[in-house]
Amino acid sequence: MVKSKIDRDRLHRPTEAKASPDSQIREVDEVVIQVTQAFCPNGHNLVCNFKLLFDGEPGISLWVSDGEREGEVVLSPFHGDHSRQGLSDFDPGSKLTISCPICRHQLPRLSKCSCERGELFTLYLTPTLDDSHVVALCDIWGCHRSKVFDQAQLLSAYMDQ
Ligand SMILES: [Zn+2]
Ligand SMILES: [Zn+2]
Repeated sequence: MVKSKIDRDRLHRPTEAKASPDSQIREVDEVVIQVTQAFCPNGHNLVCNFKLLFDGEPGISLWVSDGEREGEVVLSPFHGDHSRQGLSDFDPGSKLTISCPICRHQLPRLSKCSCERGELFTLYLTPTLDDSHVVALCDIWGCHRSKVFDQAQLLSAYMDQ
């Protein structure tokens, strides 16, 4: 079986959302899936910033520009967690250009976002840049819609929130 770079065996809960030890259901509800690797079209691993951490784990680094300012934005690696570090004060609704922080290659567009303002850009989850293992995120700052293309429908359910 192909090993997905979404590590399904490492299910994390953010520290502030600790479930009480006797509530199993709550624990299930609060499972968070962590992206441990993501790649640009040139194969650079975007999980590369080990200084700006989320619950002790590295996030996904992107080079982001709104046409006036540009810089590194680090996304939380946990799905459902919309926190960001780095240059993270773009105006909500800004249309962004998203590139690899290492080679500055623009990340490929996938399709229109369902917010109807943005376009989804692609992060590959495997170093072989397999089209069936990608995460797509909206390029509008503040739009948290995303899609995941992976064999595991379970993951889609988490991503579509
Ligand atoms: Zn790159
Ligand atoms: Zn959108």
